[in-house]
Amino acid sequence: MRSNLTLARSRAGGARIWAVVKANAYGHGLANAVNAFAGADGMALIEFDGALTLRELGWRRPILMLEGAFDAGDVELAAQHRLSLVVHCEEQVRMIEMATLTRRLDLQLKINTGMNRLGFRPALFRPMFDRLRANPNVGEISFITHLANADADERLTPLPWQTQAESFNTTIAGVSGEFSIANSAADLLATPVPGHWVRPGVMLYGGSPGAGTGIDYGLRPAMTLAARIIGIQQLATGESVGYGSRFIAQRATRIGIVACGYADGYPRSAADGTPVLVDGVRVPIAGRVSMDMITVDLGQVPAAGVGSEVILWGAGLSIDEVAQACGTIGYELMCALAPRVRRQVHDTPPPITAA
Ligand SMILES: *Cc1c(COP(=O)(O)O)cnc(C)c1O
Repeated sequence: MRSNLTLARSRAGGARIWAVVKANAYGHGLANAVNAFAGADGMALIEFDGALTLRELGWRRPILMLEGAFDAGDVELAAQHRLSLVVHCEEQVRMIEMATLTRRLDLQLKINTGMNRLGFRPALFRPMFDRLRANPNVGEISFITHLANADADERLTPLPWQTQAESFNTTIAGVSGEFSIANSAADLLATPVPGHWVRPGVMLYGGSPGAGTGIDYGLRPAMTLAARIIGIQQLATGESVGYGSRFIAQRATRIGIVACGYADGYPRSAADGTPVLVDGVRVPIAGRVSMDMITVDLGQVPAAGVGSEVILWGAGLSIDEVAQACGTIGYELMCALAPRVRRQVHDTPPPITAA
């Protein structure tokens, strides 16, 4: 995580870094994030309880709430704990106007430049800015937008990120304040990277924000999900494995039973053939993922047995590759890691090995 932050900074061309730590630091834990991202300029997330945890862990620098306040209580929490709030809709403007606060709030006015999820359309920017500027609860106002296609070729998408950036620049021309646009994809791919601040998330954990794997960008996997083989079954031709008998042996097949299933966060959508590493050797999943187990074909690794180490993703096997085999993205796998998985923190990162 530390090494990925260094890469994010080297790409950002002097912009300051909001390390995005929403969803429990994409499954990696806020305590680990505070430790590894000590060199970041701020942390950005969604959850107010997470923001309070960051303060308890000793994070004193800025914290940005990416969806702003969900209710009036959040506005008070923000003032109390010095949390900057995104303001993306008029209801939030009203909440801030109505609040009685002991400290001014720093805000980030969100502009909808085409993503069409959160934010004010450009025509509403000035009236909202003027309203907030006039309010005594408001301190600094910065500007933010979010890109829909920063990982895409500009000729192949209906909304190139450059179009969004132009609309953003036009909208905020004439007001002074800091702004941020770039997520991981823009931080890795845009030259120069726009904005006073950047907001990398997935790249800090070693995941790719688009095509390919994190390793292709020089990122290092932060999370390794590992388990062990707890059983072996020797299948005769025609015998099947697991629920629905999805895998049927075409020849004598030695199957390893791995103690990891969808209740651990391993995706049930994994197709036969999805790779795992057994004792460092790539082998395919054979049969449906169940709640507590997966089953793998040990044909390529005859020496494996009960107790052999299995890597589901991470060191030596990119989470992005596993995600692609499951019809999803690395983000979803990281974030879905289940509470029952035992966490171990290694301060020495695993070696970079392309699988
Ligand atoms: C999650 C998020 C990011 C980080 O996105 P990545 O693709 O993980 O880099 C940046 N900005 C906002 C507003 C977000 O919600």
